Amino acid sequence: MAVDVSKQTLGFQAEIRQLLDLMVHSLYSNPDIFLRELISNASDAAEKLRFEALGSEALYEGDTDLAITVEFSEQQGTITVRDNGIGMSREEVIANLGSIAKSGTREFFQALTGDRQSDTQLIGQFGVGFYSAFIVADKVTVTSRRAGLAAEEGVRWESDGQGEYSVQGVQRKKRGTEVVLHIRDEHKDYLNGWKLRQIIHKYSDHITLPIQMPKEGEKETGYERVNSATALWARNKKDITEEEYNEFYKHIAHDFEAPLARVHTRTEGKLEYTTLFFLPSRPPFDLWDREARHGGIKLYVRRVFIMDDAEQLLPRYLRFVRGVVDTADLPLNVSREILQKNKVIDTIRAASVKKMLGLIEGLSAGDYEKFWKNFGRVLKEGIVDDVDNRTQIARLLRYPSTHEDNEEKPTSLADYVSRMQADQEEIYYLAADSFATARNSPHLEIFRKKGIEVLLLCDPIDEWVANYLTEFEGKPLKSVAKGGLDLGKLADKEEDRKETRDLKDLLGRLRKALEGQVTDVRASTRLTSSPACLVADDHGMSANLERILKQVGQKVEGQKPILEINADHALVRRLCEEQDEQHFGDWAHILFDQALLAEGGKLDDPAGFVRRMNEMFIAVAAGKG
Ligand code: ADP
Ligand code: MG
Repeated sequence: MAVDVSKQTLGFQAEIRQLLDLMVHSLYSNPDIFLRELISNASDAAEKLRFEALGSEALYEGDTDLAITVEFSEQQGTITVRDNGIGMSREEVIANLGSIAKSGTREFFQALTGDRQSDTQLIGQFGVGFYSAFIVADKVTVTSRRAGLAAEEGVRWESDGQGEYSVQGVQRKKRGTEVVLHIRDEHKDYLNGWKLRQIIHKYSDHITLPIQMPKEGEKETGYERVNSATALWARNKKDITEEEYNEFYKHIAHDFEAPLARVHTRTEGKLEYTTLFFLPSRPPFDLWDREARHGGIKLYVRRVFIMDDAEQLLPRYLRFVRGVVDTADLPLNVSREILQKNKVIDTIRAASVKKMLGLIEGLSAGDYEKFWKNFGRVLKEGIVDDVDNRTQIARLLRYPSTHEDNEEKPTSLADYVSRMQADQEEIYYLAADSFATARNSPHLEIFRKKGIEVLLLCDPIDEWVANYLTEFEGKPLKSVAKGGLDLGKLADKEEDRKETRDLKDLLGRLRKALEGQVTDVRASTRLTSSPACLVADDHGMSANLERILKQVGQKVEGQKPILEINADHALVRRLCEEQDEQHFGDWAHILFDQALLAEGGKLDDPAGFVRRMNEMFIAVAAGKG
């Protein structure tokens, strides 16, 4: 087979050009990171080789001593980072070093502000590793051959980072990848063994592969290892510094920022395993991307990397957690299929969930607030998904309530319960599509009057979750917009309104006028100042939930609400006297439409509403309304 030496020149994807520009102009404040990124890629490549070689030993080509080599030449002005990992084929080079395939790319570019400080943060979060080479280099040459391919199928990629790159076939005996950086004049200080060693110590000491550099000194030859190359999680906790933990986190999470918290435990006994989990300080871009890979747990067996994104190790509602699990109790050749029904994994997973929930529960108030803002919505899914831990997850929930009346100051259920009135037996909540709609809802009137606290659930997932969380500390959760409102001992005697003949008559006329739109019309005990509100029956779906389900494209059996009217309201009293049935019908519809609008609903016939309102104004103005 002959080498295909034809040289192709290709343009970078538009996003990459933008990225390169940003990189060179905004990340130069910390150029050191280029080395961390290249070493990180070399380490990933070695892990990939190990994983693929589990199924075909031949990929090692007789060379199982995986290592990363860093060299420099003052004369040529270059730094070289070399690995004998998986390598890349021509197609892979084009795909991986010419475009960004990551999910969330669009979100990333939308989030850019042009402000150097915050864009720098974003870049770190997005993890644009390889391209950071252009911070210090004005030309980068990558030579690679994928494990298993013939020597003739090597490939060379080269670019000056200005918008184009070239690829060309080359002969390459050695498997793996070599990245040569042609260092910019202003960064020549990196051509220094001491400096490079310092950076490796600082950022890459935790890499489990040996990182080697040529020995320095007059008569020295050969290489020496410059990192300690021990798996960080396998070390004794008290010997690991904060900085080492943080750098390790940044490596596995592709994050720039230190984590919010961590938990590192070693378990011995029937099973032997170590877990090291981190809570990120901020959400990854793909937290809400349904297509996104599961996220962040790496599985090791006796320090040998097995796989990324081991989704069996933590449930989906903890998908923001990053970390490693290392166990001695699995075979090295485990596959994802085996993991799915494995007793060892089940045990580790159950214990890991407890550890994470414990870690979250133990956060300081300030950290908890940050955590909840970023990940609360994901954690809530646990109420539905994780029956075993429902009680503990319920303790972590936070909702705005009428107590603070402030969306930014949510309360825990425990605090709500501690403020419950002596005779109060239920935890009341109201679900709406926004905080503003919730807090102004007519359903709250009687509760405000009596000083009974109501939780305001305004996240679309909340009401669905509340259906699963039926009680907290023995107190049932009750929607204030559903069923007949029975305040039990909290109700006033005089509120047991007797249905007077007038009222009975009125309710009958309203039922007739609104036939087909409501299932019933009845007198309300919820309202003090609004004339009417809509209620779902006890077991029915609330209008809010119905709207949410429709929004996400679900077909729902539309359920007609119950209209409750406030018999004391002037408008309602006036309605009793209306003799003209045509007018009465208009009034009835206005009452219904108002109630629908007040809870954030959409009118079926907005123009009809406006017309009726206008007619009423005219009638009132003419003094005969
Ligand atoms: P990330 O590491 O987050 O995927 P990078 O920009 O650092 O992003 O790298 C892009 C891709 O290029 C990697 O995902 C990998 O597929 C490929 N790559 C980079 N360096 C190497 C290497 N040394 N060996 C094999 N593949 C590599
Ligand atoms: Mg990388």
